[in-house]
Amino acid sequence: MEVALITVGDELLSGDTVDTNATWLADRLTDRGVAVGRILSLPDDRETIADHVADYSALFDRVIVTGGIGGTPDDVTMEAVADAFDRELAASALTREAVDQRLAELKQRLPDRDLAVDREAEAAIPAGSRPLINEAGLAPGCVVDDVYVLPGIPGELKAMFDSVADEFAGDRRSEFIYTVEPEANIVWALEEAMDRFEVTVGCYPDREADHNRLKLTATDDTELADATDWLLSNINASETPVSREWVDDA
Ligand code: AMP
Ligand code: MG
Repeated sequence: MEVALITVGDELLSGDTVDTNATWLADRLTDRGVAVGRILSLPDDRETIADHVADYSALFDRVIVTGGIGGTPDDVTMEAVADAFDRELAASALTREAVDQRLAELKQRLPDRDLAVDREAEAAIPAGSRPLINEAGLAPGCVVDDVYVLPGIPGELKAMFDSVADEFAGDRRSEFIYTVEPEANIVWALEEAMDRFEVTVGCYPDREADHNRLKLTATDDTELADATDWLLSNINASETPVSREWVDDA
């Protein structure tokens, strides 16, 4: 399965907010064997979001969109996703009930506060889509076709993704190995490993740890194990993190 992530919000593009949702989702999906094919951040602009959602929906098995849902005028993600699928926005009995329940809880917690919430707007999702109840917040998410619309607030996003996580599965597996060999000295081995086996190998220098971390990824367990063994026996590498200091001392 290959998934694209779209994170929405002007604040992501201006650098005001670090896009932790993208990293968190990518990590969870990778753990589940899913390939993340794109991470794209978009401004709070209805047409731009609609265009990219439609494009990615055609290109990838699933698309996850986060951010820009809720009641303020800058939140246009739900409208944009509805546009992408040529649907109207509409509250359903389930989303209305969920919003009412959350509002009642909020009222209990903040009895003196007047909550001027537009219940219909909060509960609106593209017509005919599957609602995703927001256990940690107010606005529901939804699934339209292969597009999952999730909240931007990190705690709400995590709770809602966990409720649908089992719908994401793939067969990609990875192994990490570590080497203090300079990158230039292992180019031949990385090329040969990718020629000999059905794997990709990424090389990630970590200056602080003073080693290069190699990540081997494959969809076949035997290819992955054989490629890992081959690299371990052909370059000075280890399955556990090493640093030059330890190697020089040995
Ligand atoms: P919104 O979903 O646009 O209503 O944003 C709600 C809150 O979540 C804001 O404080 C955003 O800055 C934050 N937020 C939205 N998207 C992300 C993201 N991708 N990573 C981290 N925080 C985010
Ligand atoms: Mg926003």
